[in-house]
Amino acid sequence: MRSTRRAHCWLAFPLAAMVGGVPAASATPKVVATFSVLGDLVNQVGGSDIELVVLTPTGAEVHEWELTPNNFIALEDADLVFYNGYQLEQWMRQVYATVGNRAPLIAVAEKSEYQTRPIITGEYTGDPDPHLWMDPRATAAFLEVIADTLAEIHPDAADDYRARAEAASETLASLHEEIGELLAGVPEEQRLLITTEAAFGYFADTYDFRHDGVWGNNAETEGSPQQIMRIVDLIEEHRPRALFWESTLTDRYVSSIAADTGLAVAGPLYVDSLSEPDGDASNYVALMRHNALLIRNALLGEEKNGESTSGEKQNEEQ
Ligand SMILES: [Zn+2]
Repeated sequence: MRSTRRAHCWLAFPLAAMVGGVPAASATPKVVATFSVLGDLVNQVGGSDIELVVLTPTGAEVHEWELTPNNFIALEDADLVFYNGYQLEQWMRQVYATVGNRAPLIAVAEKSEYQTRPIITGEYTGDPDPHLWMDPRATAAFLEVIADTLAEIHPDAADDYRARAEAASETLASLHEEIGELLAGVPEEQRLLITTEAAFGYFADTYDFRHDGVWGNNAETEGSPQQIMRIVDLIEEHRPRALFWESTLTDRYVSSIAADTGLAVAGPLYVDSLSEPDGDASNYVALMRHNALLIRNALLGEEKNGESTSGEKQNEEQ
């Protein structure tokens, strides 16, 4: 497969150059993004001026993804790879090995230079928390990195990239305001957001919540007795109204903790992946809006929208 594709490329390039006289710079760039949330942002900026492939499918666990044969093919064809960075993708070494120096690899979160916060618990405590996109202002900084990079590799469409990024940034500014207003009604004593992975730190900082998780980062040991005991102690002390589960993880830890402590369970929250296209979080803006509404309703005890059961869960653990 690989050698065939290579042979095809070697043949196709000189032919195209001879026939069309189209310089390589104006060809549609083939762009790869590592996961669906970042893919949506790249798509918003790149639009029809790029060909985009997202490596991890929706619902997949981004931290410990294993590259598929199709992923390798996409990486071999890529003109540019966007990834989050700050060790979100534990599998980037394989990507570097495949792409080499042939195409730029851009760590969007790192390049945004947006202020990071540390991972709060577990074996990665103190490392930069990679989930910056849970703050829409950080996401606006991502858009700028994406637009600048695309403009550099494909100057013919630079104005379009910048215009789309600017429009998307304005949408994010309104989203940020909207979420702030939505959550304003949650009383101080209910502002504790407990999830499975402690991935909502940026969200919590931005909207004035306290936050913790059963574990600190999906790349570490998951669900040890020590982790469970630590979070049960926290719950006993603060008695939040609900615990939350995430779309890419099993809900069994929060569900069993909730059963033991008599709390409601609400979910899914979306953080490491969008939902399917017909789901509640089919793009970044929908994801943030869904999360905010779910958190608000669950912590206010409005069970109609805030509570669900494990039977409704979309992604069973494999
Ligand atoms: Zn995560």
